[in-house]
Amino acid sequence: MDQVVSMMERVTPNVFTTTRLRGCNPSFVTTSDGVVVIDTPQLPTRAVAMRREAETHGVIRYLITTEPHVDHIFGNYFFRGAGTVVEHRGLFDNFMVPTPDLDPFAYALEAIPTYDPDAASIVPDRETYYADPNKGTVVFTGDLTLRVGDHTFNLLHTPGHTPGQLAVHVPEERVVFTGDTIFCECQTWLMTSNVDQWLESLERIRQLDVEVLIPGHGPVTTLKYVETQRAFLLEWKAAVAAAVAKGWSRDETIARVRFDERYPVDIGQGYMMEHIQTLNAASLWDKLTALGYGKGR
Ligand SMILES: [Zn+2]
Repeated sequence: MDQVVSMMERVTPNVFTTTRLRGCNPSFVTTSDGVVVIDTPQLPTRAVAMRREAETHGVIRYLITTEPHVDHIFGNYFFRGAGTVVEHRGLFDNFMVPTPDLDPFAYALEAIPTYDPDAASIVPDRETYYADPNKGTVVFTGDLTLRVGDHTFNLLHTPGHTPGQLAVHVPEERVVFTGDTIFCECQTWLMTSNVDQWLESLERIRQLDVEVLIPGHGPVTTLKYVETQRAFLLEWKAAVAAAVAKGWSRDETIARVRFDERYPVDIGQGYMMEHIQTLNAASLWDKLTALGYGKGR
């Protein structure tokens, strides 16, 4: 059998992640009865390599996906046949669905020449991909608990970044995988967000008894980072609310409210800085004005 060179960081005896790839922080947990994968690498050869590495620890029982954005789910294609895919209904309904702002399949392909040139021969064309992107077959609303070997996986519905957002709490490891409810030391993407729900979800995560917090993006951290994320969301919302209160137009708000100096964009997506600042401000402006902010309030 070929030697498998590890691409993962070992966070606890049974928890593996990688925070150094373009895309999200894909992870897996080893149990006495197989492996549970949480999000897949966006880069195709990395997805293939992570699957191979996970399978050296046992059969993959489940693949849990935390949100419908391309950087968390495009790699599912390369996990076809590896375990049951589990996701929230709000994710299932939006799985790789193009929006006016972003074509997720094109965005996945954009990364390949620079970050994964060897992937050219394994990338499907659009039609082949969409014929079987490896969406969830266990699809639920609310929360769900999976018991695998000696481990418990509490899938917590934590909407805010997206409607179908999940956090995965593994009490035996004292670890929570928050997905993009936490962007650690990098830019937060707000365009599909509901900030008030997001703040509630952060409170839910804060209540957990965990030692390690694996964010959707950026380095592994602790529960303390919940406060930093919360403060940043409140700052964005307050800045746009103030703009609306002053009667600034949507374009004026986009031009003047920005937090690009605060954090870099996560690995390999620096060129998206303008897109993030523009759509964050625009989406908050749209939501706040729809709620009647700026009309005598
Ligand atoms: Zn993400």
